[in-house]
Amino acid sequence: MTLMPSAALNAASRDRLGRPLRDLRISVTDRCNFRCVYCMPKEKFGADHQFLERKALLSFEEITRLARLFTQLGIEKIRLTGGEPLVRRGIEQLIGMLASIPGLDLTLTTNGSLLARKATVLRAAGLKRVTVSLDSLDDAVFKAMNDVDFPVAKVIEGIDAAAAAGLTPIKVNMVVKRGVNEHSILPMAKFFRERGHILRFIEYMDVGVTNGWRMDDVVSAREIVDIVSREMPLEPADPNYTGEVAERWRYSDGPGEIGVIASVTQAFCRDCTRARISTEGQLYTCLFATSGHDLRALLRGGASDEAILARIGGVWGARDDRYSEIRGQQTQPLKKIEMSYIGG
Ligand code: SAM
Ligand code: SF4
Ligand code: SF4
Repeated sequence: MTLMPSAALNAASRDRLGRPLRDLRISVTDRCNFRCVYCMPKEKFGADHQFLERKALLSFEEITRLARLFTQLGIEKIRLTGGEPLVRRGIEQLIGMLASIPGLDLTLTTNGSLLARKATVLRAAGLKRVTVSLDSLDDAVFKAMNDVDFPVAKVIEGIDAAAAAGLTPIKVNMVVKRGVNEHSILPMAKFFRERGHILRFIEYMDVGVTNGWRMDDVVSAREIVDIVSREMPLEPADPNYTGEVAERWRYSDGPGEIGVIASVTQAFCRDCTRARISTEGQLYTCLFATSGHDLRALLRGGASDEAILARIGGVWGARDDRYSEIRGQQTQPLKKIEMSYIGG
């Protein structure tokens, strides 16, 4: 095993705002079989859209090498994402490789479309749990949001298959957009409470530059909690750990909980311990970044582990991102990276 050079470790231990490096999100593909209106709108991601070429993508070996190095810098949890991670060919092989890294909490976020087919093989490869995105139980609403006519029932089938395969606890992500799916908040809460899965409501965010985001479209976490609470009373629950993205609320009248991710109305940059690696190996220190740091060039240029560790450590040590806290203060529009590329 490579020994950690102390300079890299020291630099990486805390960023300029005192935040440690703990979580890593790895985007394994920029492609997706959905065209969610808030993420990959069809007008911008049409038939002529140029996705990355295969050789531009980090290979499984490259991803695994980086993952091992990141664990030396304090990473405890890796989430595979995209694009849609389950459309990357051989993803179960990558999971097998990452699962062999000791002490790593490995998870994946998926739109669920391929989960019914893949849940068992993912579990066998070593994946412990999954997060599945679903924005409504109403077929017309969901189809309008995924914009490829994908039915709710198939995602539920995927969730059930994941539960049966033991990929638990299952979390379900629902992005709430005003005028589009607020009326799905309560039915979703009831449905997933009954099934024993943790539903997390996500405020619609201004990631990238293509989704036409407006503050008026955001339904705040406060409003969401009020809507659920009116029918099923909620009380705040303690975070599971410092830096947890979702604020937890438990039902006061029995078992179950929900989460709200209030990245717009209650910024949580102060505790943000996340780094991201894009599909082609750029390191980003914020979801709203405008540029990254090229790790693929180091990997392919024959850099030693020590050199890569020093680079990552240096980038993290210089980090002062807090976009959500200063949202709206920019004088020029930012050319932010798209979520499907950077990894949600
Ligand atoms: N394709 C997978 C999926 O949809 O679960 C993984 C990638 S997706 C970019 C990761 C998460 O980001 C999903 O839960 C998705 O709903 C969420 N997301 C995408 N665009 C968003 C936006 N503009 N605001 C809030 N959440 C968003
Ligand atoms: Fe695809 Fe996920 Fe983005 Fe929807 S949110 S378009 S499923 S990457
Ligand atoms: Fe972290 Fe950037 Fe989101 Fe703030 S805006 S919580 S720094 S990813």
